[in-house]
Amino acid sequence: MSTGTLALIILAAILAQVAAAVLIGFRRRRKEHQEPGVRGAPPAISPHTPPTAATRTPAALPAWEGFREFTVQRREYEDANRTVCSFYLAPVDGKPLPPFRPGQFLTFRLSVEDPETRELGTVIRCYSLSDAPRPDHYRVSIKRVPAPPGHPDAPPGLASGFFHDRVHEGSRLLVRAPSGHFHLQEDEPLPIVLIGGGIGITPMLSILDYVLGQGDRREVWLYYGVRNGNEHIMKERLLGLAGTHAGFHLHVCYSAPRENDVEGVDYQHCGRIDMALLRNTLKLMRYQFYVCGPRPLMESLVPALEAWGVDSGDIHYESFGPAALPKHGKTAPVAAPSAGPATITFSRSGRRIDWDPAAGSLLGLAEANGIEVMSGCRVGSCGSCQTALSAGEVEYSQDPDAEIAPGHCLPCIATPRGDLTLEA
Ligand SMILES: Cc1cc2nc3c(=O)[nH]c(=O)nc-3n(C[C@H](O)[C@H](O)[C@H](O)COP(=O)(O)OP(=O)(O)OC[C@H]3O[C@@H](n4cnc5c(N)ncnc54)[C@H](O)[C@@H]3O)c2cc1C
Repeated sequence: MSTGTLALIILAAILAQVAAAVLIGFRRRRKEHQEPGVRGAPPAISPHTPPTAATRTPAALPAWEGFREFTVQRREYEDANRTVCSFYLAPVDGKPLPPFRPGQFLTFRLSVEDPETRELGTVIRCYSLSDAPRPDHYRVSIKRVPAPPGHPDAPPGLASGFFHDRVHEGSRLLVRAPSGHFHLQEDEPLPIVLIGGGIGITPMLSILDYVLGQGDRREVWLYYGVRNGNEHIMKERLLGLAGTHAGFHLHVCYSAPRENDVEGVDYQHCGRIDMALLRNTLKLMRYQFYVCGPRPLMESLVPALEAWGVDSGDIHYESFGPAALPKHGKTAPVAAPSAGPATITFSRSGRRIDWDPAAGSLLGLAEANGIEVMSGCRVGSCGSCQTALSAGEVEYSQDPDAEIAPGHCLPCIATPRGDLTLEA
């Protein structure tokens, strides 16, 4: 064999080895990409994990596509009544969690048994993150929803009941990435006023934990309204924060205190959160206001803040149920009063139905006529009612939080701009 041939053979062998190494590396990386992590128990979480900086990526961009699997690492009741339970969720793939913007929510896809038919069905619900962003876990705090007053025979809340009764340590849940336009505004470091009524406190807790945890020097006022000590969640933690952060001003309001609730100890004010309280306790200066709570609180406080002279751009609010108020600077009610009648074609059901403003959202129209459209939050947040719009245009009563695919719409917050066709 000549020296030249030998050199060629050696070169070919080296090239083959390099090619094999590259191929193996590529396969490994592709596998990691396709199977995002090891199945089995993810690392234990600690409630004391230091918070991470909030994301600054646009709120509309999800941190992961679709649903990711999480394990419930811990659950903990937060109130004396045991109606609010916190769930600590760690990703099954064990990879660090992307940060979120304090105030945002998670969307869950649950497989829940229908109380009447006993059949399993998919239920989509949103729950606000109730903690600062942390690399190893998320926390949500969920209130059990009973049948509405005056309807004792109605079935209790499906998803909240499922969480309370069926979700335990070790349960697996499918979760969409944090999203939502309601979040802490970090561009302008104004003092912050957080107003949370009932379970509407959850996004406020996230903002509060984040701001205090970052050593942010902004002053924070928290107004938290509940009926009495039975419903007061995270009482010791909030008192502890108020005791250790001079810039944090805690105002808990009990609307119906129990005999053993002591004003000045358990709570600060008797009554509901109202403008008189805000006027008496806030200094005259510019703030960023964040409001979340039951419908009457939102309907009374948000317009009252504007009437007090607060710029609408400094008032941020979110409803947990069907929109009580138009959102994000939009002033149109659910259907603009000028909206004319329209004919809606539901192409899959083969139905043509007349709509007028009294019919409300397109989801309401479909449901009232027995046309099945899957739905979740009913406030444009979860995206589960997304439906293809094959002709015509819609108008939204508020900016949708969910991303909408081209040629689709969210019927839960949409009204028609003339005749249209929905693929439902
Ligand atoms: C962005 C966002 C964030 C949220 N964050 C939180 C949070 O942090 N914590 C939290 O606890 N919640 C939060 N929510 C609310 C949550 O998503 C659910 O809406 C809530 O848990 C109720 O859902 P459910 O499935 O338990 O009740 P559902 O089954 O939807 O029932 C709702 C109500 O309707 C009643 N009902 C059901 N069927 C009938 C019937 N046939 N006739 C009469 N009444 C009936 C039920 O009894 C119940 O009172 C949030 C919502 C949104 C949109």
